[in-house]
Amino acid sequence: MAIAQGQGGSAVAPASAATIGPLDRALRERAARVIPGGLWGHQRAASLPEGYPQFFRGGEGCRVEDVDGRVYVDLMCSWGPIVLGHRHPAVEAAAQAQRALGDCLDGPGEVLVDLAETLVGMVAHADWAMFQTNGTDATTACVMIARAATGRRKVLVARGSYHGSAPWCTPVPAGTTEADRQHLIAFDYNDPDSLAAAVAQAGDDLAAIIVTALRHDLARDQELATPAFAQAARALSAERGAVLIVDDVRAGFRLDLRGSWAPLGIEPDLSAFSKAIANGHALAAVTGRDWLREAATRVFVTGSFWCSAVSMAAALATLRELRRVEAPAVMARAGQRLREGLARQAARAGVGLRQSGPPQMPLLLFEGDVEQKLGALFCQQALARGAYLHPKHNMFLCAAHDDAAIDAVLAATEPAMAAVARALKER
Ligand code: PMP
Repeated sequence: MAIAQGQGGSAVAPASAATIGPLDRALRERAARVIPGGLWGHQRAASLPEGYPQFFRGGEGCRVEDVDGRVYVDLMCSWGPIVLGHRHPAVEAAAQAQRALGDCLDGPGEVLVDLAETLVGMVAHADWAMFQTNGTDATTACVMIARAATGRRKVLVARGSYHGSAPWCTPVPAGTTEADRQHLIAFDYNDPDSLAAAVAQAGDDLAAIIVTALRHDLARDQELATPAFAQAARALSAERGAVLIVDDVRAGFRLDLRGSWAPLGIEPDLSAFSKAIANGHALAAVTGRDWLREAATRVFVTGSFWCSAVSMAAALATLRELRRVEAPAVMARAGQRLREGLARQAARAGVGLRQSGPPQMPLLLFEGDVEQKLGALFCQQALARGAYLHPKHNMFLCAAHDDAAIDAVLAATEPAMAAVARALKER
């Protein structure tokens, strides 16, 4: 698929926000008849500002093309999985080579062992690895392994953290029972006292503490885990013989190839990875320490597609390439260029813009914008000029975002920032 490059920013900037294209509209009408709500989950366009496309034709590098042929510099990267760029040649070549041999066979391919060895070599705490398809599979397997290892039930979860869509963790209670969450105890992220209180409440029944790598709750400034919090999580779980699980599904392999808490010097007992592990191929992984190996053998966790050799081949190529290009640093540099450019634009326009999180996973929120109306306006205006942003979820950089792509985004956000300034004056 050939995508016209360089559309972002330099194109004549229309005064209005983007509107849905005719092919997207037609697909939505068909989908509404045969798919409940037209789409499930977080990628439903209804949760995005008006004018955002629902359907996409393809992607290449750091750009995506919607079904109507509009090309955007992509700052969502498929909500995280794209870490090297869409259709990365080395990853796709590895996937094609494996596909030629077979994908879904009677058992795994050699790549399973290669990949487990790679993760054990890369991830600081990992003595072993297991694979699944989605992030929810991995976080759920972690909780099961922790309960199997300890023979206990209570799992401590930070308020507002997302760990997936299974009944034990989905943020929307429809279709779940109280019993599904009966053994969860809430605490506040980055608050060691609140964590200690939850540990005390769990008493002798504490199986695990599960924490995301950083605080990346929807529509709230992101926070890196503080050293004091990470140390408390590590110490409290160790004292109680409980399992410390880092849910690295969203941040894993974007911030640090050893695991996102490695720079803090904290080694979890289990980590859940997914999104970026295979550059868009469906794969998740749990890595763990030796003392949990026996419990990980005992739990029955599996799936028809959990041994997909193509995804594993793609993961091997992805991890190799991430190391070769030192991708976290590349993404951090691109994210920093974006952050500084946006800060300059906001200052010039007199707009209060808060930017939070690591530069590889930026979140933009406007001061006083409780319902993200200014965020929606900003994103719509940028979308019309070829930049695909999100008004309240953290975004994702990939290693294909070069200076030209970031500058194209900034060319799109300059008039978008001016539109926000005008809206503020009219308030
Ligand atoms: N944990 C975290 C931190 C996530 O961000 C996500 C996905 N957004 C999940 C778990 C669940 O992953 P999946 O959607 O692949 O099941």
